[in-house]
Amino acid sequence: MKKIYLPLLLTVVLFSSFIRPENPANVSIRILTTKVISTFAFSPTSGDYLVYADEQLIKDYDPTGIFQMNIEKDSILLKTFERTIGRFASIKFYSKEKQGEFKIKSVVPQSRVRTYDGNMEVGLTADKSQFLIVNKVPLENYIAGVVQSEAGKNISLEYYKLQAILCRTFLLSHINRHEAEGFQLCDDVHCQAYLNKATEANIVKGVFETKGLVIVDNDLNLITSAFHSNCGGVTCNSQDVWSISTSYLKSVKDTFCIHSFNAVWQRTIPLEDWKAYLQLKHKLPVDDSAKFLGTTSFTQANGRSTYFTDRNLKIPLKTIRADFKLRSTYFSIEQIGDSIRFNGRGYGHGVGLCQEGAMRQAVLGYSFRSILNYYYKDVHLVDLSALNYFTQE
Ligand SMILES: [Zn+2]
Ligand SMILES: [Zn+2]
Repeated sequence: MKKIYLPLLLTVVLFSSFIRPENPANVSIRILTTKVISTFAFSPTSGDYLVYADEQLIKDYDPTGIFQMNIEKDSILLKTFERTIGRFASIKFYSKEKQGEFKIKSVVPQSRVRTYDGNMEVGLTADKSQFLIVNKVPLENYIAGVVQSEAGKNISLEYYKLQAILCRTFLLSHINRHEAEGFQLCDDVHCQAYLNKATEANIVKGVFETKGLVIVDNDLNLITSAFHSNCGGVTCNSQDVWSISTSYLKSVKDTFCIHSFNAVWQRTIPLEDWKAYLQLKHKLPVDDSAKFLGTTSFTQANGRSTYFTDRNLKIPLKTIRADFKLRSTYFSIEQIGDSIRFNGRGYGHGVGLCQEGAMRQAVLGYSFRSILNYYYKDVHLVDLSALNYFTQE
């Protein structure tokens, strides 16, 4: 495993202000975060589970059976098929074995079954209006679930290794994000998508072959491991999109993604809508029609721009992207009759690693280390346990 040259590492540690990442064995992830659920069911699929209601062990039930929970009178009503167990503030399902696995399904409203590793704790949100369902799961099992949710199935092992490192770095750099709410990360794209445990063998392999590896910058801080679907041929500087400059999120040319699925897009809107948008939202003076039509053109043929400019207007491209729900900010605009056409490239914010470019590089035989250094400048791959060791000096 490649490590940073140790004397250099120690020097940097001694002279830098430092965040100290923990390396927890288990993480607490809120699941079904965005769903408003009134009734759901839990059942073990592997291993027996102990059930605690308000910290008391429940007895006389089938440990492999199905439990149903709904919100009633500001508490959780717990039932099995046979009987009602009672009303509680919290319910915990703890696996007796190390490798427990369970299923959870929203009953009202109906949704698909999801499967997770580890333990589950159920409470209510502070206003008692919603379930707060937390999966306590071994860190690397969580990472595997995220990799499958964020990257999908049937991709090369080398790419999965890379995605695992990105998701692990994100987890550890955002581990206190939801601390005040009683968990670490949510399962929504707000943090990282975590929709199920990983079911693909190559994903699990990629995660465990890179176990503990994270990305740090020259100051040994965990990086913001931003990624997006397709950059369209050029990635963005972070300061051009988020107004924050970093040493590693720098624009790079990428020829690997330009024939991929999300490389090119088009969107056509009525000319009148575009005109109204510029005049009403951005205060373009109302002009005579012919002149307006004649000057409506904008191109990024020679590389990415940050702003759309037209006469006295200077509008951030990210504003136009958000207002028209475009796939990226990398577009040119042309007028075709009574319409305006956006000719676009790429999909996503364009900062950091381009997933489709990285996938292509992995297929061509580039290693995850090489791909990482292609999209992030001046970064290092370190084992978290080594990093912890040096930060505790
Ligand atoms: Zn979140
Ligand atoms: Zn790309």
